[in-house]
Amino acid sequence: MPEIRCEDCGCLFPENYLIHCCENCGGYFDFADLPEFDTGAYTPELPGIWKYRSSFSLRNPELVVTLGEGNTPFIWDDPTTHEIGFKLESLNPTGSYKDRGSAVLVSQLLARNVFSSVEDSSGNAGASFAAYCARGGIAARVYVPEQAAGPKRRQIEEYGAELVSVPGSRSQAAKAVIEAVENGDVYGSHAFLPFGIPGIATIAYELAEQTEGRIGTVIAPAGHGALLLGIMRGFAALVKCGILDSEPYYVGVQAENCSPLSLAYRYGLEKMADVFEGNTMAEGVRVSKPVRAKAILKHLSAARGEIITIAEEEILPACSHLAKKGVYAEPTSALTWAALNHMNMEIPRPIILIISGNGLKYYPI
Ligand SMILES: [Zn+2]
Repeated sequence: MPEIRCEDCGCLFPENYLIHCCENCGGYFDFADLPEFDTGAYTPELPGIWKYRSSFSLRNPELVVTLGEGNTPFIWDDPTTHEIGFKLESLNPTGSYKDRGSAVLVSQLLARNVFSSVEDSSGNAGASFAAYCARGGIAARVYVPEQAAGPKRRQIEEYGAELVSVPGSRSQAAKAVIEAVENGDVYGSHAFLPFGIPGIATIAYELAEQTEGRIGTVIAPAGHGALLLGIMRGFAALVKCGILDSEPYYVGVQAENCSPLSLAYRYGLEKMADVFEGNTMAEGVRVSKPVRAKAILKHLSAARGEIITIAEEEILPACSHLAKKGVYAEPTSALTWAALNHMNMEIPRPIILIISGNGLKYYPI
């Protein structure tokens, strides 16, 4: 089972309590190695992602908080050519891929006897966190920017979490939750805590099964980066154990108005310090200081891939194009379709788009 270590100073994550960043140096915690993928350890009697439970590094393997997340449909854009495919993460229990991470995260919180927790989010992660906390019996408080999409805020409240709408940008909500943590609340952060990443890696395991290993390129939105990183680690784990010969080509997509990963990819991590949190309807990637930036760049430098940006005026037409195919995606997810127009025609086929969130959660006017 891979250890969880500070990615800067290497100290181990504490055994008996929860912290969101390193007490020694302020660095982020992450797994020191890939998830341990073992087909001999499948638990198919459990739903969705829990088939791969042995790869989750669970503190208590018997403690499972699930709403049936994972095992989402995969469809080809054109079933006769198999050129472009859609992984419909929008059909998870709360309408986004976040559920894969939340199920593992909340199971890990309960295994550490956390029964009350705070979280911050642009919307999807907060809704997902609220749902799994409701399922697990954890009292949740979720901080969101006040401009977060109405359906997401409604979802958070309906699941029974306390919703705190914070005026200003996404980073203001992040500051507000840190104040709560400094006053003693437990921060069940989907961004800082790495627990959910092996859950997100199950997207790769499912894709390998659903396409029978035929995956040329994977395109995914990138905000904090856990989606892209989880997928990359999932494929790397499949290569490591010999199920796949090589990892696919990766494309992370950001909104042009807030694109720290793209800058870091081109000019180095230090360039992220200057990034302005511009407004974008792709609210799920409106993150100016992505927690997993260093890990993503490290993986991309070892594998093949790139980070690209999409202009604001390209996003709504991409939503409409997807909808005309019957795929109702929120703007953040439609970045992946818009990305196709920016791709070198030589990128490996087939191309898989990760439809990360449901259009029902976002109504642009
Ligand atoms: Zn450290």
